[in-house]
Amino acid sequence: MALTLDTKIPHQKIQDALWLKAHIQDKLKLKENFSYKIVRRNIDARFIDVQYVLRIEVDLENDIQNNYKPLERIFPKFKSQNPVLIVGAGPCGYFAALHLLTKGIRPIIIDRGKDVQSRRRDLRAIQQMGIVNPESNYCFGEGGAGTYSDGKLYTRSNKRGDIMNVLDWLVVHGATDEILVDVHPHIGSNKLPAILARMRQTILQHGGEIHFNTKMIDFKIVNQQIKSVQTNKETFDVSHLILATGHSARDIYLLLQNKGILIETKAFAIGLRIEHPQSIIDQAQYHCFPRPSTLPPAAYGLSAQVNEIGVFSFCMCPGGLIIPAATAPGEIVVNGMSLSKRDSPFANSGVVTSVDQLDFKPFEKDGPLQGMFFQSAIEQQMFGAGDGTQKAPAQKLLDFIARKESGTLPNSSYIPGLINARLDELLPKTISLRLREGLGIFGKKMKTFLSDEAVLVGTESRTSAPVKIPRDPESCEHPQIKGLFPSGEGAGYAGGILSAAMDGIRVAEAIYLLRS
Ligand SMILES: Cc1cc2nc3c(=O)[nH]c(=O)nc-3n(C[C@H](O)[C@H](O)[C@H](O)COP(=O)(O)OP(=O)(O)OC[C@H]3O[C@@H](n4cnc5c(N)ncnc54)[C@H](O)[C@@H]3O)c2cc1C
Repeated sequence: MALTLDTKIPHQKIQDALWLKAHIQDKLKLKENFSYKIVRRNIDARFIDVQYVLRIEVDLENDIQNNYKPLERIFPKFKSQNPVLIVGAGPCGYFAALHLLTKGIRPIIIDRGKDVQSRRRDLRAIQQMGIVNPESNYCFGEGGAGTYSDGKLYTRSNKRGDIMNVLDWLVVHGATDEILVDVHPHIGSNKLPAILARMRQTILQHGGEIHFNTKMIDFKIVNQQIKSVQTNKETFDVSHLILATGHSARDIYLLLQNKGILIETKAFAIGLRIEHPQSIIDQAQYHCFPRPSTLPPAAYGLSAQVNEIGVFSFCMCPGGLIIPAATAPGEIVVNGMSLSKRDSPFANSGVVTSVDQLDFKPFEKDGPLQGMFFQSAIEQQMFGAGDGTQKAPAQKLLDFIARKESGTLPNSSYIPGLINARLDELLPKTISLRLREGLGIFGKKMKTFLSDEAVLVGTESRTSAPVKIPRDPESCEHPQIKGLFPSGEGAGYAGGILSAAMDGIRVAEAIYLLRS
């Protein structure tokens, strides 16, 4: 017989198996012979005594297997040689390809960037020399923007089956099965490259194709039906194209616009990245110092309304690093990543505010691309405040709020280095104002957030796509162009690794249904 126990335990006891067994026995009034497995784990840090919130499955026949059993997958023979072309080897593209393989459809993936290993050299060039390769960087290349990231795997979606499907693919390819248990799972950028390399092997072994350094530069439409895709290397004849190029492929948005294909402007969020010593966040969240070894580096999520517009923390990376995420020379874009242990002494997070057509007004003439040009102008403005490298403009948090220049800046995890700047003046006035007020409210919600040791770094601008590429809600096909399937974050249907992967699977399934 199986039982489920929902319980809270002191964090100090999480690694004490004997204590936990006695606790279960006591709670469920059991005799000694039973086995158990933690199936859900969360942290409740609202009170002085921080607790783990656990869901435990208990088996009275002593028969619970702690080894994870992956979902059963079959890879049928291809029903035809007519492949689906996937542009973009990010989470959306890779999971679409895996799903197509389980449906007997051959995927061909192209990506402008390099495989995960070769990509590292270009990341070093950005970090150490400030050289941005527009084809291979923190956003472009195998695994897309998700590879050298924090590897957080959260989504607002509550489609449990779809989420477990993605997590299972990750575990099968080498992610720890802890991601199936943690309410806030994360993988880390030291682990993600090997997982992606194994996924690549699965795709190749089952008959898929992957072409790196292969950039889509044009495509041909005949009678409103996609016919071929031209790359810098070759032309692919194609009847079904999954466009999964991510939120930073500005040339793709321009291409669609120039071809007169329907795209829409989209609201997104923009702001700065904030960095604190991790110990300040731990102390605020866990009410103790130093952080006990039974608790992970603490995270936070803060939000405020300023003049009825949202200001919020975004993509918080405990124990992480701020990284240069520009995709072209002449711009400064920052983001956050972490290693699996999250053991850097810094905590960073985006602090951003929602922006829409009211903010994009100066770029109205650019039609659906107004948000993209607004975003790009701010990134270039930040670059202009620097020394021509990837050194990022920065201001102490308290000085940003007080609207004054900082003296010396605190230490930071940002390897290219920081440059003292008046971020409050570099940002458009309305955004600067909303952020200042929002940060003030954050300080009221979280003691010690308004710390003299906190620094703001520009620009957190690639939070989501500035453009939406419309599609039919059922078939996922573009309303004007047959065979074009806009997908993932770049098309406006995802906002993170997990949701991009889920969207890739959704679109692949829609294509399978259309072709069946
Ligand atoms: C530094 C960083 C940290 C992040 N941390 C997290 C996190 O912890 N958790 C989370 O959920 N999300 C995180 N994100 C966001 C997440 O990575 C994205 O939401 C996700 O990767 C989107 O997936 P995608 O497949 O839709 O697009 P992308 O991952 O952007 O992939 C698009 C791919 O398309 C390719 N491409 C673009 N143009 C072309 C072209 N013309 N021809 C061929 N190929 C092309 C690119 O090279 C790229 O590989 C982070 C992002 C960054 C940049």
